Amino acid sequence: MIDFDAMVDNFLEREQWQKKAGRYYPSEIGTCIRKLWYSYKHPVTISGEARKIFHMGDMIHRFAADVMRSDKNPDIELLEEELSIKLNMENFIISGRIDDILLVKQKNEKVLVEVKSCKSVDALKKPGDQHVIQLQFYMHVSKINKGIVLYLEKNTLKSRVFEVEYSEQIAEDLIKRFSIFHKLLISNTLPKPEARGTWICDYCDYKNKCDNDED
Ligand code: SF4
Repeated sequence: MIDFDAMVDNFLEREQWQKKAGRYYPSEIGTCIRKLWYSYKHPVTISGEARKIFHMGDMIHRFAADVMRSDKNPDIELLEEELSIKLNMENFIISGRIDDILLVKQKNEKVLVEVKSCKSVDALKKPGDQHVIQLQFYMHVSKINKGIVLYLEKNTLKSRVFEVEYSEQIAEDLIKRFSIFHKLLISNTLPKPEARGTWICDYCDYKNKCDNDED
């Protein structure tokens, strides 16, 4: 018989991609700054399980785009999908990818969409902070002031939408945070353990290093 699990593992196998100082990503900056710093200094190998989770996220995103693109939903037009964007700062670049840009035809209004998969939409009381941060950055760069975080439940395709209004202050604070991070990284200065004592540390690959304040 075939071993389909092994075939999936083979299919998803990719060369490990290395992050480099000077190029940063909006999806990362909302996390603990020390954890992010370690991820540049001591990259960990992405596990097979993590690859599957990322791939499932991509599949969910493609499904959401198909729904938005469909003629069966004539009130909405999908203007852009997976649009790469970049913000050039003096010493570094922030680059990312907008999931989708929609046109709500009735209002003639453009809306940015950040698509996320989740286990249960009923459990969501508000959008995740990191997801809002990503969207704020994309709204800032694209100059589109309306955004939504669209959650899709993996097992049922049930959805939940949270609207997010653009805040220039949040976007500027984010860019400042990138700047602080860049300085800490190039000066090899260990950042403060921002998330210490929270659940985030329970899932952190760098907990041992962090607890000993190792760089
Ligand atoms: S253990 Fe916690 S505080 Fe330390 S780097 Fe990881 S997330 Fe940050």
